[in-house]
Amino acid sequence: QPGLMMDRPLLVSAIIEHAAAQYGNVEVVSRETHGPLFRYTWRDCARRSRQLANALKGLGLEAGHVVGSIAWNNHRHLEAYYGVSGSGMIMHTVNPRLQVQQLIYVINHAQDAAVMFDATFAPLIQGIAAHCPQVKAWICLSDAANTPPIEGVANVHNYEDLIAPCSDQFDWPEFDEKAGAALCYTSGTTGNPKGVLYSHRALVLNALSGSMPGVLSLSPKDTVLPVVPMFHINAWCIPYGAPMMGARLVLPGPRLDGASLHGLMESERVTVSAGVPTIWLGLVQFMEQNGLKFTTMHRTIVGGTAMPKALIAKFADDYGVEVHHGWGMTETTAVATMGCLSPEDESLSPDEQHAIIARQGKSLFCVDIKIVDPAGQTLPRDGVSQGELMVRGQWIAKAYFRSDESPLVDGWFPTGDIATIDEHGRMQIRDRTKDVIKSGGEWISSIDLENAALGHPAVALAAVIGVKHPKWDERPLMLVVRKPGQSVEKDDLLAFLRDRVASWWLPEEILFVDALPVGGTGKVQKGPLREKYGSIFA
Ligand code: ADP
Repeated sequence: QPGLMMDRPLLVSAIIEHAAAQYGNVEVVSRETHGPLFRYTWRDCARRSRQLANALKGLGLEAGHVVGSIAWNNHRHLEAYYGVSGSGMIMHTVNPRLQVQQLIYVINHAQDAAVMFDATFAPLIQGIAAHCPQVKAWICLSDAANTPPIEGVANVHNYEDLIAPCSDQFDWPEFDEKAGAALCYTSGTTGNPKGVLYSHRALVLNALSGSMPGVLSLSPKDTVLPVVPMFHINAWCIPYGAPMMGARLVLPGPRLDGASLHGLMESERVTVSAGVPTIWLGLVQFMEQNGLKFTTMHRTIVGGTAMPKALIAKFADDYGVEVHHGWGMTETTAVATMGCLSPEDESLSPDEQHAIIARQGKSLFCVDIKIVDPAGQTLPRDGVSQGELMVRGQWIAKAYFRSDESPLVDGWFPTGDIATIDEHGRMQIRDRTKDVIKSGGEWISSIDLENAALGHPAVALAAVIGVKHPKWDERPLMLVVRKPGQSVEKDDLLAFLRDRVASWWLPEEILFVDALPVGGTGKVQKGPLREKYGSIFA
């Protein structure tokens, strides 16, 4: 007996129309790439998304076409999320920090028919346009005055002139909710990047689930600032969740340094933010140096790499900010698990509570998790057994874009992460399969070593890689960036670590460096470090 409910598809366009109708006066604030802050409302955002939909139609684009973006978090990029996907086209967000060859590869592999870009990336467009012959239009997300000339590239438009003559009335098409809405490529540390094509249904369900209490906890009382880029897994679906829940949205544009972020959080009275740990390390360092606090910020969503316990403690104890620590990957649409406290944890000491939040936590509704041994056997949920983390669910990828190979194993997606799950269902990432250090037949977690080092007051950033070793197969090498003006030497740090990790985990060598390579999504890139240091003990 079929249920007798209406058969209305879950479409992205419904989110922006809901925001326009229910939260029409709620503000969206956006940092323009050329500097000033721009303000409007969800109603205006919906109106301009419809104008964009008409403009794209005018360019000859239609449902099924792919539109790329190489852009910061700003209001025009937000309108593109709706104007493009809402019209039945696919919004392909490109990470601007990909190597140029990979950038060309993803634009051509996706067959982008148009590409939207921020003025910052005009030189990049000049360099790649000739290699992307199928791109019919290059649209600068700006007005005429702030669109730089791009010599030798035909069909360059500026966004404002393109949409200005278009009607703000547009009947969003209704179609199958399983249709593709957005496309994001994995960073392709090995081989070419692989495309993950999110359906409307996946985005809507993830935005709903991810906005819930215990996850982002978004409500009309919130002002949310996603630092996580809109090209990094749809900014963890905040551009969908904020209008769905009626939250006020602040988009930081290109300015992601500590001073700019803190200034924006204070001036716009931000209550919630989201980003990778490196962003928060930079922000906290700036605040410490300048003796600053937050007035309104009280919650931050952190993921992408493991959040060190020391930083969770700092946020909680010094700044009164609650950390929600999530795990996800490009293939899981956005956040898939979330570490936060259960009522029974309230009686624990702050340190014990921080340790629980440092785990990646429980899976959200719509996601099942398990860990398996190399033979594929499910391992017990005892908090000790380690195995590869497998996920499945309504918003987990089942295939890659334009690829015939299925990544699934018995209907589960293998994440390449090694994890434990405890009896409460709380998952903890031990390491990535490719980063774990295999020393004398035992495993050393690079994450645990990095997080232990980050607990030292003079350490700004740390990365640990496995380096070939004649006796032990691999041994850990630690690379450390000191905080400005602070001093710490190898022996001090080793002594500090000795109290925190098993003695055989201690790094074979610690090297102090001025900087570590950080990719566009704010993660330390271990590939280049392995290339440079991978044989120093050989
Ligand atoms: P990339 O490979 O470029 O980092 P993704 O953004 O898809 O691409 O990263 C997904 C991976 O990031 C996960 O498989 C996991 O290794 C890591 N990750 C994400 N969140 C966390 C977290 N909270 N703790 C530890 N690792 C994380």
